[in-house]
Amino acid sequence: MLTSLQGRSVIVTGGSKGIGRGIARVFARAGVKLTLVGRDQAALAAAVAEMTAAGAIARSAVCDVSDYDQVRRMVDAAAEVQGGLDVVCANAGSFPQVKMVDMTPEDWDQMMANNLRSTFLCVKAAIPHFERAGKGRVIVTSSITGPVTGYPGWSHYGASKAGQLGFIKTAAMELSRYNTTINAVMPGNIVTEGLEGLGEDYLKTMAASIPLKRLGAVEDIGHAALFFASDEAAYITGQQIIVDGGQILPESLEAIASI
Ligand code: NAP
Repeated sequence: MLTSLQGRSVIVTGGSKGIGRGIARVFARAGVKLTLVGRDQAALAAAVAEMTAAGAIARSAVCDVSDYDQVRRMVDAAAEVQGGLDVVCANAGSFPQVKMVDMTPEDWDQMMANNLRSTFLCVKAAIPHFERAGKGRVIVTSSITGPVTGYPGWSHYGASKAGQLGFIKTAAMELSRYNTTINAVMPGNIVTEGLEGLGEDYLKTMAASIPLKRLGAVEDIGHAALFFASDEAAYITGQQIIVDGGQILPESLEAIASI
């Protein structure tokens, strides 16, 4: 049983949908105060309504996490309304697929802005609040795609997700002076609005290639994030955990077929 996070102030970027909403659900059950961040006001309102119905204190913030002014305002407002800032879950991201032959330099830059620059911006904006509080936690949603595996069409995505892991190593050192940790969760294939957009065939083939024979649930990532936010994880920083049902383990098609 983890020490209670009751009353802690938490921001979840991308909290309106998918994994972020799952993270928010798990943190809501732990009794935290939540700011859910996204660009789609209607989706945010639905997510806040869900958290509030479950008894949580939740609010939304419309913010493009690739824009520093918007991120700074969002983080400052969350800290003001929630009485400080304890945890930032830098989760928002997107994964449009395009092979290199068709990828434009603008596609590449857009991916880096949405997934990698946004991670840095959220951390940078949170530093003054962590410094004031004398403590803080950052949990980054990376991926197995990039740091461990590859998938045609996701060279830019994989680079952004591997970049997040590179970022947290030095960030962990710099944040230590504010008694703040930063760690990453690396999801495998998790059922979300974004993933469902890749089509039924993708989801079926993917489930067959996973030793646990199912795609992950968004709460599977939420539980890992909650652990990194807990007091019990206070001495872990700059690290990453893969949550993928064993997806990266099989060495070949034969290996997975022989289970
Ligand atoms: P999703 O269902 O499409 O949800 C993405 C969330 O991020 C939405 O709330 C979206 O809100 C928000 N978002 C995206 N770009 C944003 C921006 N510029 N500013 C503010 N909010 C933004 O995707 P998901 O599958 O949950 O993915 C969430 C994270 O998990 C991503 O970082 C992704 O790389 C990672 N991940 C997912 C999987 C998977 O299998 N699903 C696997 C590995 C890693 P709006 O669109 O409304 O702004």
